[in-house]
Amino acid sequence: MLDNYDKLTIRINMDGTLIGNKHIVAISINCIEGGHQSQTSKNLVPLGLFEIEKENTDMLRKTLPKEFIDDIKTGKCITIEKRNVPIQIKLGGDLMNAVYVFGLAGFSSNHPCVFCTQHKDDLHITEETAYDKTVVEGKGKTKKTTVTRIGATSYHDLNKRARSLAEQKLCILEKNNALGYKHEPLFGDLFEYTDYCVDTLHMKLRIFDIILKDMLSHASRTGKYGSEHLAIIENKIKILNQHCQKTVGKRFFFQVDVDDKNKTITSHGKLSGHLQDLFFVDTFPYDDVLDDELAQSARVVVNKFKELLQEVKANSKTHNDRLKFLSIQFVKVFRASGLRTTVTPYIHIIGNHLFEFNQLNDLGDFNMQGVEKGNDLLSRLYFSSTNPAKYPLLTMLQKLYRMLEMNFENQNHRDAMAEFARTGVYDLVDDAALERRSSYKHKDGKFFNINDEQEEESSNKDKDQYVASLDETNESEDQNNIDLNESMIQTIEKRLNITSPSMNRKQL
Ligand SMILES: [Zn+2]
Repeated sequence: MLDNYDKLTIRINMDGTLIGNKHIVAISINCIEGGHQSQTSKNLVPLGLFEIEKENTDMLRKTLPKEFIDDIKTGKCITIEKRNVPIQIKLGGDLMNAVYVFGLAGFSSNHPCVFCTQHKDDLHITEETAYDKTVVEGKGKTKKTTVTRIGATSYHDLNKRARSLAEQKLCILEKNNALGYKHEPLFGDLFEYTDYCVDTLHMKLRIFDIILKDMLSHASRTGKYGSEHLAIIENKIKILNQHCQKTVGKRFFFQVDVDDKNKTITSHGKLSGHLQDLFFVDTFPYDDVLDDELAQSARVVVNKFKELLQEVKANSKTHNDRLKFLSIQFVKVFRASGLRTTVTPYIHIIGNHLFEFNQLNDLGDFNMQGVEKGNDLLSRLYFSSTNPAKYPLLTMLQKLYRMLEMNFENQNHRDAMAEFARTGVYDLVDDAALERRSSYKHKDGKFFNINDEQEEESSNKDKDQYVASLDETNESEDQNNIDLNESMIQTIEKRLNITSPSMNRKQL
């Protein structure tokens, strides 16, 4: 299947997750031409697991070994059946991860967008709301008035404030945080800004989150005090909880925020994308918890957003004009709703970049659903062992390779993958493992070779497994594929013979 390509695209996925008390950054790859089934959790090829104190650019730079970063940077081609195929690298991950990878100042800076340098004051601007901004500088004789056109921005058009590595270089030389550039990019010039695209799963999650948050904050303002206020709040909570039980069950609920002296409504639990779909339905008690006008506008915002998500899900390039129309309209109704006066980076991205991405990429290629599911899998692997592994990260990574091995039907492929899990997976400061690895090095090409054939095989049988790109991890749906029972894990551990000495291990 991949034989027909003279260029392949590799997506490098990075995602931080909390496992027990460890903050882990998991890095994996998949081949975009392998189709969406290559980004399911059991088909992602793990590159490394790193324990990190805190996620930020500096900490990642300190934690990710130079050798590891250099290895990624030098990967220029893949060998398939003795043919060298050049590869192009793309970045997958949520917005926060992109901030770290590109070395940006982040969402609280004056230039919060990962893709362009629009000022935070103009984040809500779309093509439809472009305006002339008058800036007055200095006083008296030195007073200077300039008029600048503030319009829609682009993620790729440098004339419309798209970010670029070249601009970043200049800005970092000039002064700190100019245009929101803070550090050198983590991987040097490996990724250009156009190599990253928004992940529509996180876009959905975060926007529904803030819509709910804004509704709760309005619902918590009663204009009354003391017990009268509390009685109103408690009644609204009762109504909201009835809605929860009818739609998502008891795992998500509302209560009085005891930490807030104003006695506000707060939510508990987490809504996955799937649960959000069940929760934000027309029967949501807008009118019972919000004032008339806001109830009406909140309903419109939710429905417009759902309409937009439908269009994203349809994944149609031919209807890009429609996506653009719905995107700009969503920003407009959100702005007019009175929910909040500002827009978040994701809402800005909808108003400016989403339809650009859709036009030039396949949005589904950048969906992080499989990666998120991979995090759940890591958690299960971590906690599934009755005896805590001596080197948990190494063990987890080897188990992940064992799972890849099980994808193969051809015994030779399985053997090759098993051999790689035994010799190619190593802990960076473990000397014995390094030695094993150097003996493996000459076989590097083979590893990728295996992987490509895997995608070829799995493409025929795993089609159904790719759940439509916007549906998120549904905890039970993939259980059978990724649940490893205890005996299997013991077998794997025994096979892998994990007894390497002298690892104090922060990294793998
Ligand atoms: Zn932007």
